[in-house]
Amino acid sequence: MSNKHVFNAGPCLLPQVAIDNAREALLDFKGTGVSLISISHRTKEWEETMDETRALWREILNIPDEYETVFLGGGASLQFLYVAMNYLENKAAYLDTGVWASKALKEAKGLGNAYAIASSKDRNYCYIPKGYEVPSDLDYLHITTNNTIYGTEIKHDIDCPVPLIADMSSDILSRRVDVSKYEMIYGGAQKNAGPAGVAFAIIRKDSLGKVSRYIPTMLDYRNHIDKGSMFNTPPVFSIFVMNETLKWLKGVGGIDAIHEIDEKKAAALYAEIDRNSLFRGTAAVEDRSIMNVCFVMAEGREDLQDEFLAFTKERDIVGIKGHRSVGGFRASLYNACTQEDVDALVAAMKDFESLKK
Ligand SMILES: *Cc1c(COP(=O)(O)O)cnc(C)c1O
Repeated sequence: MSNKHVFNAGPCLLPQVAIDNAREALLDFKGTGVSLISISHRTKEWEETMDETRALWREILNIPDEYETVFLGGGASLQFLYVAMNYLENKAAYLDTGVWASKALKEAKGLGNAYAIASSKDRNYCYIPKGYEVPSDLDYLHITTNNTIYGTEIKHDIDCPVPLIADMSSDILSRRVDVSKYEMIYGGAQKNAGPAGVAFAIIRKDSLGKVSRYIPTMLDYRNHIDKGSMFNTPPVFSIFVMNETLKWLKGVGGIDAIHEIDEKKAAALYAEIDRNSLFRGTAAVEDRSIMNVCFVMAEGREDLQDEFLAFTKERDIVGIKGHRSVGGFRASLYNACTQEDVDALVAAMKDFESLKK
């Protein structure tokens, strides 16, 4: 078991029980005497794991019957293309809240008429644009609910007059989402849902088949839905760990329970950032993410940045260096991160302050 406080942005901390059970399954999957990564995905044992993962996913997220769920390779970045392939016919709008949103928009532009409906690029994406008008003739509006790099988050399901599509890579499973407000939801698993190597899509059944373009076989959601996410070999290891992570989450009490824990962790860290004279937060207060907390040294104290990093490293704090495009620090407080981890970081900030006063 790791004795580090891991704040990596993704891949990131996962529940220890999921890691332990994955180690077990790598040696012997379900008592078959065969490793998880050597079994055929057409065996009964694997199909059970696949079905159970899908069922847990649907249960925990309270996904209505009108929606299909698939698990796919290629990460969230390939979903950017899937979305445009399967949904863009005439015109789509994207809310430009950061690098991931821009990358999603780029894929859509490559296929048709897509544009940024509003952007916070003017202030390095430190806030979520508001007050933009959504035209009624859009195929869809695309949003990125949590902006992993900048620490901003759309924390409530928005009302949208056109089909709404959301990249929820970094805040899925951290709050209750009303799935029925979305045409589709997708993301990479490697934040709250599991390890890298699998992406998820939650798709309203009647939303597909409306575009006129030819969709390549592997990019057509319908083929993956028809084959229960086993059109081709699924990423068995990633899905297994996802299964274990979901079981852990259910044991913790599900979405509402983890949301409360996540909010408490974030509140504790933001409170220290606001109190501590050496640091300041970078995201607009009303848009602060509960998953990724971004902060920098206070004005005039920038020279202390490397020293603080070294100071935290000595205390087994890992992964708080900010993304290169923002600098400073970012602590990712995903579901498996504990209050003790956050307390360790807060204590380090307090102690560093007294050292430098
Ligand atoms: C991490 C992340 C991605 C990229 O995911 P990949 O699986 O690496 O392609 C996309 N969008 C958001 C919001 C992310 O946090």
